[in-house]
Amino acid sequence: MTVNADLHTHSVFAGGTGSGTIQKKLTEMRGRFIETQVISQMKGVNLLGTGDVQFEPYLDFLEENLVEQEEGLFTFEVNENDLSNFLSKKGFSFEVQEDPRYILQTELIFTTAVGKRRKKAHVVMLFPSFESVRSLNSLLDMWGVSRQKMARPFVVCESAEQVGDRVNSIMDIDPHVEVIPAHVMTPEGVYGGDLQIDFLDQFFGDSADRIRIVETGLSADPAILGMVPELDDRILISNADAHSSALNRLGREFTSVDLNKFDYRSLIDALRAGNVSKTAEFHPTEGRYFLTGHRDNRKKPFLHGKGQFCYYSYRHLPENRICPVCKKPLTIGVLQRAYELTEAQGADRRFGEGPKRPYVTMIPLIEILGFVRGIKTLNSKKLLREYTSIVSNIGSESRIWMEDNLDLGEIDPEVSGAIVEVKKGNFCFSPPGFDGTYGRLVIGETYDFEDLKVEEI
Ligand SMILES: [Zn+2]
Ligand SMILES: [Zn+2]
Repeated sequence: MTVNADLHTHSVFAGGTGSGTIQKKLTEMRGRFIETQVISQMKGVNLLGTGDVQFEPYLDFLEENLVEQEEGLFTFEVNENDLSNFLSKKGFSFEVQEDPRYILQTELIFTTAVGKRRKKAHVVMLFPSFESVRSLNSLLDMWGVSRQKMARPFVVCESAEQVGDRVNSIMDIDPHVEVIPAHVMTPEGVYGGDLQIDFLDQFFGDSADRIRIVETGLSADPAILGMVPELDDRILISNADAHSSALNRLGREFTSVDLNKFDYRSLIDALRAGNVSKTAEFHPTEGRYFLTGHRDNRKKPFLHGKGQFCYYSYRHLPENRICPVCKKPLTIGVLQRAYELTEAQGADRRFGEGPKRPYVTMIPLIEILGFVRGIKTLNSKKLLREYTSIVSNIGSESRIWMEDNLDLGEIDPEVSGAIVEVKKGNFCFSPPGFDGTYGRLVIGETYDFEDLKVEEI
């Protein structure tokens, strides 16, 4: 069987929480599970991370509300009335037929000293049981990690060796605990930013050898990560990293996995064995850190006025990577880092070279509808109505991207035409993402994103 898995999400607690608001946030979280019940089916994603599972109040809530269906896979009990209220409030006429499965998942932020500065790397973790999550929390307490108010706590380390020891201890909780470096090319990922971690073991110490799976993140895809030789024998997966259950967030990237048996351990075994039939990816130019640059309206720490921005491809980088507007170092983009990594690891690969991995590039259908209808607000009732009618018709959005011969005949020709163009690769994000801003979708045009120099100063 094949499942579409999105193994990196966040709860309402990810942004931190003050005391006294926990109860309110848990109610909000219940609402998210109701929304997820609907959205996951519309998207065609059947397996989701819980997000933030180690955060104690949320952990208790999950233990109370999740029901284990298969070993290590859970459903969230959604009340029928709540579900129909949600559907009618949103104006969705959509029949919810299945319960998505949840897997116990969190993201921790490891930091370590690199020279006089500190490097951060986000790391996704998957757990087979509540007991194993409680064991993680005991370790975090032993290390003095402050986690009372942090749903994404910082594990502060002093060296790669210490990161390695701690990651090893977490992996030793259970042979099926999985540790996955998250969105590896972004500034918050292990390879990203300007601190030049060129090999996984420079950050993860000797636990690097045990790291088998790496998350591409929205800013990178197999065409980019194929440039990094030390990933050649590792498995790439893709997740949405959604901080909300909204249609254009949840399941916006996912991994299609072939399983022998539907349970947690089989899922981990399948991922480790590389039984990934496809990852579904954003086009990297849409991601928020594709090119090197500085966005406009930049506040702290360096000031840019409205309309003042710049971005560059690798070959047009200004000298010393200094911004012509604020004279400070530019935010290094993902493509740039990939070229640096390929060189640092002794290879000479260009974008798209390296091992071939099966993946599809997709654009959230709701964004395509927004583009075709000229509507910028993606939660507009009009767009949502059209979206619902399309997915009710074809079953789920993922089918559009995963199936080559899907009949789009029932869909309005303007929309199906745009889908066909996207599937052919006839689209771009212009401008592309840079310095924390998403790229802007244009269907029916392409350009060479390896040959850009744009300065509005
Ligand atoms: Zn993250
Ligand atoms: Zn600047």
